[in-house]
Amino acid sequence: MLLKETQEKLLPTLKKYFGYDSFRNQQLEIIEAVLSKKDNLVIMPTGGGKSICFQLPAILFEGLTLVISPLIALMKDQVDGLNANGIAAEFFNSSQKSKEHNTIFEKILQHKIKLLYVAPESLSLLGNILTEEIISCVAIDEAHCISSWGHDFRPSYQQLGFLKSTLPNTPIIALTATADKATRQDIVQQLSISKATQFIASFDRKNIELEVRPANDRVSQIIKFINKKPSESGIIYCLSRKTTELLTSKLKQNGIKAAAYHAGLSFEERTKTQENFIYDKIQIVCATIAFGMGIDKSNVRWVIHYNMPKNIEGYYQEIGRCGRDGLKANALLFHSYSDVIQLRKFMTGASNEEVQIAKLERMKQFSEATTCRRKILLSYFGELLADNCGNCDVCKNPPQNFDGTIIAQKVLSVITRLNESEAIGTVIDVLRGAHNATILEKQYDKLKSHGVGKEISWRDWQQYIIQLINQGFCEIAFHKNNALRLTNFSKKVLFENAKVNLTRPIAVKEFLETKKEITSKKTKKDTLFERLRKLRHQISLEGNIPAYLVFSDATLKEMEKVRPMCKTDFLEISGVGQRKLEVYGEDFIAEIISFMGEKINKPKKMDTYNITYNLYKEGLSIDEIAKKRNLKSTTIFSHLAKAYTDGKEIDIYEFVSKDEVEKVRKAKSDLKSPPALKPYFEYFNSELEYFKIRLALTIIDKEY
Ligand code: ADP
Ligand code: ZN
Repeated sequence: MLLKETQEKLLPTLKKYFGYDSFRNQQLEIIEAVLSKKDNLVIMPTGGGKSICFQLPAILFEGLTLVISPLIALMKDQVDGLNANGIAAEFFNSSQKSKEHNTIFEKILQHKIKLLYVAPESLSLLGNILTEEIISCVAIDEAHCISSWGHDFRPSYQQLGFLKSTLPNTPIIALTATADKATRQDIVQQLSISKATQFIASFDRKNIELEVRPANDRVSQIIKFINKKPSESGIIYCLSRKTTELLTSKLKQNGIKAAAYHAGLSFEERTKTQENFIYDKIQIVCATIAFGMGIDKSNVRWVIHYNMPKNIEGYYQEIGRCGRDGLKANALLFHSYSDVIQLRKFMTGASNEEVQIAKLERMKQFSEATTCRRKILLSYFGELLADNCGNCDVCKNPPQNFDGTIIAQKVLSVITRLNESEAIGTVIDVLRGAHNATILEKQYDKLKSHGVGKEISWRDWQQYIIQLINQGFCEIAFHKNNALRLTNFSKKVLFENAKVNLTRPIAVKEFLETKKEITSKKTKKDTLFERLRKLRHQISLEGNIPAYLVFSDATLKEMEKVRPMCKTDFLEISGVGQRKLEVYGEDFIAEIISFMGEKINKPKKMDTYNITYNLYKEGLSIDEIAKKRNLKSTTIFSHLAKAYTDGKEIDIYEFVSKDEVEKVRKAKSDLKSPPALKPYFEYFNSELEYFKIRLALTIIDKEY
């Protein structure tokens, strides 16, 4: 059991260092278990909030928390993030000189560091730091790397078993987003933590909207998608290096800041792209699967799969990289049969071919689903969802069933006429009566069924045939050039008049939009959020710290909603801890106030002031008006200031004394009438509140 004293510290510590007001799902239980010095295995989806599970205990432990992490390149960001929150952390790896190592050792011995990030390869360099006097806890991030069962095996992880024997009484917390059972058992066994409590969090990431579209005209669909989200960061996953480069150049031609990322590029190029992405210098990365592991950038707003992923594990991990901040995010997958065929080809001959193909089959079923997609995903991870999610394309646009018997008959008879020797593309060409080279050469235009399906579009035929395959009315002969073949079921349709149910293909909205609509959406609005984003970007460049480490999108959104105009209110925002209040508070508050000020001067917005003024005339206090209008009292004051300027009857000295007005008058002359309020605020050493400064200036300005 945890001491009551410690327990009472948990929430205040979370707020002070991370700025959050409450724990997410199982974080609290996990933290309590770590602080009770138990071993733990934590399985949480990407973006679920694993880091705090060891970072918060690290603050409270007397000694050092060692964090084993696989990627040297990303340790710096994690450490920067901790430092930005006022937590002393360092990384330790082979890229540093021995002098740097010695400095770190000294700091450790003086208890000046709370967390030390180390790659497994560098553990042996730690020497006599590895004792229980110095180390309070060991966290093993991306713990699935230990298992050759997992999808990301790293040999260097296999030596970690020695940690338990060297530090038998030190709690180990192993963390991963890989859920499968074999991997889990392997981790526990290899780390010798057989008594570890296993925390398996829900894999549901409700904020990610799931969507699957047929892969026709992918590039233009993607450009339209991006143009609707002009400043949002995103990742596009592609199967091949070549595709990442082609796509990147097409995006660039369309004025979109994108870069390619794949294993064929040099280490320097890859690092640069990753950094540019993290620092919001490029908007989009077109990558092979090698990109993204360990990237904690919380404001990735969307992930697109240009090609079908190999399996659901990979897909889920990749889409998990968007929306880590909990705000709305989008995952869009392009489904194509030729991808499935290509992936099957890669898998043929692999040692575990059968397993791989079975996994691909599940991925395919997901892509072709006509029921809630999230239910399918979560059931794959052993989680059952009671209700449909309401946040996937199927839920939003439920498929409509109709009698597709005639359509099925047409397809199957074409397959028969073609002697079951042609793949899906040629079958559709015959149905639609095409006269291209293949058709003419093979004289398919002479077939009786050539052109029996002219009235249906290519895209829809493709959808119908996929549905027929899924229902078993025909099949793909993967080993015979992917030709479409008949099955036992086919005969029932062709000769016994069996009824076939099909669903109408979902119309992709983007296809229907006019160009004008799209360009009009591209212009960014002048919202407070945009202003705060700009300020964040500027701070990011000046301080050489990734923008999302300054504040997350979620935090900026809340600032926009609440509009804090003093430090007390600013600290209330989720994501603002003590350190960030001190370092960034004033700049953000000033930006909010200046935005509010400009909006006040726009006549269009007058209504809101009149409402406030009328309530004031009715005799309500400022607090009462604020409560009634669900606005901050500082906002109410700014309304009254405006009303006063407009000559409305207000006893303004009720809120600011004559003495204070005189002080502000002096400040104004000393400071030579600065345009913003912040210089005044600083002039008074933060002792005169912003609303008083504003009211005093209103009075002074009105005198002239
Ligand atoms: P993971 O390592 O599991 O992929 P992270 O630890 O990077 O996830 O957390 C994902 C995001 O969620 C981060 O931006 C983090 O700051 C945020 N987060 C974590 N815990 C909380 C919480 N209790 N309240 C609000 N946001 C949180
Ligand atoms: Zn759904």
